[in-house]
Amino acid sequence: MKLGIVGLPNVGKSTLFNAITQAGAECANYPFCTIEPNVGVVAVPDERLDKLAQMYNPEKVTPAVIEFYDIAGLVKGASKGEGLGNKFLSHIREVSAIVHVVRCFEDSNIVHVEGSIDPIRDIETINLELVFSDLEVLERRMDKTKKAARSGDKKAQEELNFMERLYSHLESGKPARTLAMSQEEEELIKQFFLLTSKPVLYACNISEDNLLSGNMENIYVKKVEEYAASENSEVVVISAKIEEEISVLEGEEKKEFLQSYGLDEPGLHKLIKASYRLLGLISFLTAGPKEVRAWTIKEGTKAPQAAGKIHSDIERGFIRAEVISFEDLIAAGSEVTAKEKGLIRLEGKEYIMKDGDVVVFRFNV
Ligand code: GDP
Repeated sequence: MKLGIVGLPNVGKSTLFNAITQAGAECANYPFCTIEPNVGVVAVPDERLDKLAQMYNPEKVTPAVIEFYDIAGLVKGASKGEGLGNKFLSHIREVSAIVHVVRCFEDSNIVHVEGSIDPIRDIETINLELVFSDLEVLERRMDKTKKAARSGDKKAQEELNFMERLYSHLESGKPARTLAMSQEEEELIKQFFLLTSKPVLYACNISEDNLLSGNMENIYVKKVEEYAASENSEVVVISAKIEEEISVLEGEEKKEFLQSYGLDEPGLHKLIKASYRLLGLISFLTAGPKEVRAWTIKEGTKAPQAAGKIHSDIERGFIRAEVISFEDLIAAGSEVTAKEKGLIRLEGKEYIMKDGDVVVFRFNV
């Protein structure tokens, strides 16, 4: 489950990516940490872990992590194979969601590839390249489906009807994710692996002056917010340059720096949390004297499969889960009190995990 960072040249992608990699997760725990230079692994900020650590005094605290993939070089004409276009599109194909960095800062020293600051034009430039690529993919599929439909395959005909509707939607320049679909159609479109089906988060890169003046809502940001709202996408406002500076600071120094910009947490935290949600991910928690840890699952995961994240043996031998919500545990003050008050529930195989569940799995070995 990777997110790809995309955007036109000179909008601040590398700057943001640097901030991400510098703020990177302690790698030792993660086998995929040896990775290529354009992949960054970061801890998902989770205040609940700190609270649990205060309660359990564990030997270590392990956060959930997500991966960001720096997909530089997407330019106008990419879908026509101009430049290294196709390679970039294939990289986007590999990610589950997209962070689209949009330039909302003015700086006459930094050339804008299109000559002026216009975030909506920039967004549409990139989205159009993705739409073009999707149209091609869809055309190829439609050819096959047409043949099947002609030979009297009813299901193929239904699919073709949907494809035609999707095609004209894309042709009007709109991303696939904005098409209203039935549940069946949603299942069908997954098989097409379209680039514009992927969920998008727009990251507005604002200037340090904007940030300093507390004016996060410049006119460019407002436009992006309107645009994003029209397609049900989220927006995060950051200053990539400041995030890059924050990412190398620690402790008091970091606190002071954040305060001087009127921030209570790095903008990167907001971005990472929003990215986690964008991927449809939630965390359940385990807590004990050895380790306090957040585990990543897809929303809707049932207890045994969640247990499988810890170890396949626990999934195989699953008996039950002892569950308490993080809030209830904190309110009780300790696990012992929570037990005495009967706040710890026993849940079975069909239980759907919730974000922030603190869990002990019981299993047969
Ligand atoms: P990329 O081509 O999208 O990866 O863009 P870069 O991250 O390389 O940024 C392009 C230029 O813009 C660099 O000189 C950055 O220092 C500068 N830059 C990035 N973010 C900001 C920002 O928030 N404010 C200002 N003033 N400059 C920025």
